[in-house]
Amino acid sequence: MSARTGVVVAIDGPSGSGKSSTSRGVAMRLGLRYLDTGAMYRAVTWWMLRHGVPVDDPAAVAERCGEPEIDTGTDPERPTITVDGTDVAAAIRTPEVTGSVSQVSAVPQVRARLLELQHAAIGGALDGPGIVVEGRDIGAVVAPDADVKVYLTAEAAARAARRAAEEGGADVAVTESSLLARDRIDSTRIASPLTMAEGAVHIDSTPYTLEEVVDLIVGLVEASR
Ligand code: C5P
Repeated sequence: MSARTGVVVAIDGPSGSGKSSTSRGVAMRLGLRYLDTGAMYRAVTWWMLRHGVPVDDPAAVAERCGEPEIDTGTDPERPTITVDGTDVAAAIRTPEVTGSVSQVSAVPQVRARLLELQHAAIGGALDGPGIVVEGRDIGAVVAPDADVKVYLTAEAAARAARRAAEEGGADVAVTESSLLARDRIDSTRIASPLTMAEGAVHIDSTPYTLEEVVDLIVGLVEASR
């Protein structure tokens, strides 16, 4: 990644902190590509569930995780994700996948496999203007030399309200406890836990609108050039 011309913007944070809308907004504003790494972990999880692999058995997940063919589009206007050629954009957002993804993403072999795909997507964007990459371990592990690193958070109640609305009016209290359970697993796992990367700027989005958070990050990117 040393001879690159493009910029890399890493956006990490817990579930429901507004990472996706923010990352896409920043990418669209600056003409960058966009990579949703959470969608990749969800896609592997979808495949495991579909093939009857017990997701609570790390050895079983590790053994099969090389099989699914995952393809992620990087257009921020139209993010796409397919598994073995099937469009899974909607299927990876079901409560079943959401309830299992943290177990699957804690398996080191799954992370190693997806890291390769993530590096390929980032590498492909570096000859152009660059890429915004969102996830949990982007600033720390996937792109530690990113030009801008953001750790995006929001108060739990705000995150739950946002996520419940996205899910078409799901119960906010149930959504909040599911978010917190996922955060707990994501933050305490051994392999690449969610942490604030060295050099990251912490933005608590609770008091801001989406546009304001996008403005803040666009300002950081412009200042880094
Ligand atoms: O961002 P999203 O909520 O779609 O991520 C789904 C799950 O994927 C997270 O809860 C986490 O377990 C996993 N993930 C991860 N590392 C990333 C991105 C997501 O472990 N870089």
